[in-house]
Amino acid sequence: MKKKVLTTCPYCGSGCQLYLNVEDGKIVSATPADGRTNQETLCLKGHYGWDYLNDPQILTKRLTKPQIRKNGKLEDVEWDEAISYTAQRLSEIKTKYGSDSIIGTGCARGSGNEANYVMQKFMRAVIGTNNVDHCARVCHAPSVSGLAYSLGSGAMSLSIPEIEDAKLLLIFGYNPAESHPIVARRIIKAKQKGAKIIVVDPRITESARIADLHLQIKGGSNLALVQAMANVIILEGLVDHPFIEDHTSGYEEYKKQIEKYPPEYAQSICHIPADTIRQAARQYAKADSAAILWGMGVTQFGQAVDVVKGLASLALLTGNFGGPSMGVGPVRGQNNVQGGCDMGALPNCYPGYQDVTDDIIREKFEKAWGVRLSKKNGIPLTQVPQYVLHEKDEKKKIRAYYIFGEDPGQSDPDLNDMRKALDALEFVVVQDIYMNKTGLKADVILPATAWGEHEGVCTCADRGFQRIRKAVEPKGDLKPDWEIISLVSTAMGYPMSYKNTKEIWDEMRSLSPLFFGATYEKIEKMGGVLWPCKDESMADKGTMYLHKDGVFAHLDGKGKFFATEWRAPGEIESKEYPFSLSTVREVGHYSVRTMTGNCRTLSNLEDEPGWIQMSLFDCEKLKVKEGDLIRVSSKRGTTITRVKPTERVKAGATYMTYQWWVGACNDLTVPYLDPVSNTPESKYCAIKLEKI
Ligand code: SF4
Repeated sequence: MKKKVLTTCPYCGSGCQLYLNVEDGKIVSATPADGRTNQETLCLKGHYGWDYLNDPQILTKRLTKPQIRKNGKLEDVEWDEAISYTAQRLSEIKTKYGSDSIIGTGCARGSGNEANYVMQKFMRAVIGTNNVDHCARVCHAPSVSGLAYSLGSGAMSLSIPEIEDAKLLLIFGYNPAESHPIVARRIIKAKQKGAKIIVVDPRITESARIADLHLQIKGGSNLALVQAMANVIILEGLVDHPFIEDHTSGYEEYKKQIEKYPPEYAQSICHIPADTIRQAARQYAKADSAAILWGMGVTQFGQAVDVVKGLASLALLTGNFGGPSMGVGPVRGQNNVQGGCDMGALPNCYPGYQDVTDDIIREKFEKAWGVRLSKKNGIPLTQVPQYVLHEKDEKKKIRAYYIFGEDPGQSDPDLNDMRKALDALEFVVVQDIYMNKTGLKADVILPATAWGEHEGVCTCADRGFQRIRKAVEPKGDLKPDWEIISLVSTAMGYPMSYKNTKEIWDEMRSLSPLFFGATYEKIEKMGGVLWPCKDESMADKGTMYLHKDGVFAHLDGKGKFFATEWRAPGEIESKEYPFSLSTVREVGHYSVRTMTGNCRTLSNLEDEPGWIQMSLFDCEKLKVKEGDLIRVSSKRGTTITRVKPTERVKAGATYMTYQWWVGACNDLTVPYLDPVSNTPESKYCAIKLEKI
């Protein structure tokens, strides 16, 4: 029997729609659908990222049965035993140490928004804590915090299709060709339509190659550049005064701070000629509609929130809000990282960005869920090692970690510390689809269905709710994530009896004014709905771009300017550690390769684990050539990988991917956190290199 199942690609926030073509219960191909963002195109991950669903064991072992650690070894058990053991251990820890001794994660991958809603409800209503977070913490949390401060809303202001009609794109710390290939296609289209492209990146990326202007910035100097561009715009009279007057606050104070950043001063920090900074500022300010797109080259720094506010200020300064194809675009990486935030898998927000410390909002959720809820913000997941290993107050320590669809044992910084924390925890639950680095440390494994095996809704990078659909039956004794969490909740004395994802979605909508109008029916009919969507009637089709007519989401409707002093990265090069290291990613793989590593075609494309990109100059100096093994060390650890010489990087700067088990660069990265967002500085630490 043949069928075509329309769904959303799980491999990045572009939200491409595709058909899974199924014959006799097996997927035989994926073909592009005419989706809102992808218009019948896919990148290679969309085309080839499905065969792990047919064959459960290509590279690593698909989890097919619940497991409990007995006498030090994980053993297969039945669901009843796994659920009641998990519930019993979590209840014991809650009773002994208190609710805040337990932390849980949401999942930014293909599990769906409904599973994230149920997880944050479980942590809040059943465990009794706001200690719930997800991987936005290690990537785009600074975008959420920074834009919420500046504009009142932490999401992309424009939609993905609008990118191609911008007259100028400032692509800042973002490599769309590798991270969002379909967004990269929109950028190429914009260029073909005459848009100017400015790229700020320490590497010569594919986008830099097509740019009109490439600012090859020194890592860790973003704020100095942003404020120098503002300096030029103000000094040369290129500001949009009527917009500033009518739609913003804080301009005079901002202007004073910006005066301290002439391009010549920024040149000494950013290593970009002052005249090039002037050129970039002029081009940006003079464009009819300019959009700034950014990625983790902005957010994974210790001063990331300040830079996000600085970028928003550039857009306010030039009046680049109010219409289509302009504004700000933090382009989320994982396919549902936006959804994790939307659904409240965050320590400070209920679903729909509603503050957990607001009494009226909390009472609404208490009434709906029939429990008393915690009044204080929870702990971000990047502080788990701190609260497990280094917290002196016994009452504040974290004792148990419920990890759903994340792999902190590979994806978080300073893995030596993270491994020690996982070992020191009294109880670790891993709910996932494959065995991973974290699963090896788990006390209980709860095996879940994967993308392609269940229903739901996800949110792509531009706030678009889109459906994910079941194409094939799961291979093993598996359950959808929302059902597993509901069973644990019920076993802990708080019954959750959802019959399907629509029931969960409707409950979530009823509590979230921003999303209330986005019914399943509407999402089905329109193919996707961008929030805010507040009215259930078909007349409310959602919102393509935010801040229409320059009205921002703050109570006074105004956008806020912000500038501050630049500061250097938390760990810089030294005599002993003379190179800088930044993490990057590979186009053929997704996150820690749980899914793509188990797809034959994608695995064959990149079959050599790990590498370090180095300049030709540094290779010559160290007498190493392509493929040579090299020892890479930081103050925190050592790993071995292969040399990849390239003319695309500057001398002294190196780049590694975190995606491989072998040559894991997170053995080296620094746990230095942005003080507001608690996002780690994965894009900068100091290392040494030794030829083997
Ligand atoms: Fe999937 Fe992203 Fe590629 Fe689209 S661009 S096919 S969503 S990985």
